[in-house]
Amino acid sequence: MTATAHSGAAALPVRPGEKRWTEAELEAVRSELAAEAAALRADIERAESDIASRLGDAVGDAGDDQADVGAKTFEREHELALTHNARELLAQNERALARIDASTYGTCESCGEPIGKAGCRHSPGLHCA
Ligand SMILES: [Zn+2]
Repeated sequence: MTATAHSGAAALPVRPGEKRWTEAELEAVRSELAAEAAALRADIERAESDIASRLGDAVGDAGDDQADVGAKTFEREHELALTHNARELLAQNERALARIDASTYGTCESCGEPIGKAGCRHSPGLHCA
């Protein structure tokens, strides 16, 4: 046994009765998280450029009737809420990825107990519940 035997995937916490993480399992989680993060980033970018172009519309249409302006405002607020959720998810994914890199992945963010492999598969795997 060398000092490096318990670094990387094998050093991550698991629940009682679970086998230790293998590098392949951890890599699968990492690539899933990375793919999800990339998709979220693309969603956010798209929503932001939609919002930006619609903000331009709203200014241009300032003379239009109120109902139309109201509908546009509602739509924009809805989109901002979606973007907010996507940002929150993205932040969670990035935290999970950072934890994998720091070898602290697999511990509940709230209570510090091992999430276990089953919990971690429900990405982003930051909480035990
Ligand atoms: Zn917990």
